[in-house]
Amino acid sequence: MRSLWLLQLRRLRRARPALAALPLLGFLGLLPAAGCALNTTALGEGVWVASGDPPAPNSGIVRTPFGPVVIDGQPGAAPGAALLAATRKVTGFKDVPYLILTSHHADHTLSNELFLRAEIVSSDVARAALLDKSEAERKALHDRLGVAGAGSAEVVPPTMTFQKEMTLYAGWPRDKVREVRLVRMPSGAAPGNLVVILPGAKVLFAGDLVTNGVFPYMGDAELGGWLAALAELEKMDFDRLVPGHGAPGGRELIGDTRRLLVDLAEALAVMRSAGRKLEDARKELVLPRYQKWPGYKELLPVAVERLWDQRLPDEFVKKPLGPERAPPPPPSPSPAPPSAPSAPSAPSAAVRTDSPAAIAPEEPGK
Ligand SMILES: [Zn+2]
Repeated sequence: MRSLWLLQLRRLRRARPALAALPLLGFLGLLPAAGCALNTTALGEGVWVASGDPPAPNSGIVRTPFGPVVIDGQPGAAPGAALLAATRKVTGFKDVPYLILTSHHADHTLSNELFLRAEIVSSDVARAALLDKSEAERKALHDRLGVAGAGSAEVVPPTMTFQKEMTLYAGWPRDKVREVRLVRMPSGAAPGNLVVILPGAKVLFAGDLVTNGVFPYMGDAELGGWLAALAELEKMDFDRLVPGHGAPGGRELIGDTRRLLVDLAEALAVMRSAGRKLEDARKELVLPRYQKWPGYKELLPVAVERLWDQRLPDEFVKKPLGPERAPPPPPSPSPAPPSAPSAPSAPSAAVRTDSPAAIAPEEPGK
């Protein structure tokens, strides 16, 4: 499946170079092939996660006495149909009364049309973001990849929104009620991104604020908001965490995502301090720790472009001196040798972030 989406992305880049600047195209690499089945994993009593192979997005399935609550759809009609089939199979219900969207991103919303009998719930900000998606972007998806639900077909927007927080109490009698809590987080991975908590099962669905071994799409990233959201997630009460992409895990996934954000922001700061330009960073930046993650090659340039002008909040800047607080290096006719001490200056081909000086220390759990 993965080789197919990579091939599709390469074809698209060759055919439409002018579209390469559209952040949406980062998503194209995430789209699974049509007709694939989803893997379903039980996380607790009446709670499952369904997903294609990485980097495909995760969907949550929660059984309630009123029917299943689905958390995030899939990228297109075929994987969406597979999600619906998996939901029916594990829950025993035919209809889905609720579909919750953790963000407006295409990889989670392009199967909305299959859930027309459901209340589709998102934050008000995420709904507005979905409606803002340009016709050209949808058409690019449809024309190049044949994704049903894109192109001429409209993406179905949420039918119910909230501003900060809402809770579904799904079920009857009272001792069978399933509580599903939705909390809008600071916009980090996407405007108005939300997380879903199941207080009874102690499961957190973090959406794309957290990924596990999958390079995240950062075309809408807000660095400060993202780090603030991760800090809020660490205070929440849960045992299992379902990331937007990658296998479920525990709290350590929050730290892993924070480390990626800090590593990337610091590497960009090093390049800026050295007088390098965005174009250099786009071509030369390497993050060795993450190179093997699905999506790295396709989505790192998107991340570089988005975060180039964003600064790491002070509390995340490492001691003794953050790169941007160090004086700029003296001009040099040739690039500094790789072994130059106090390395931030003039990275010649790559900025390595696996050196001790460039890796964020493990943060203690809060
Ligand atoms: Zn996603």
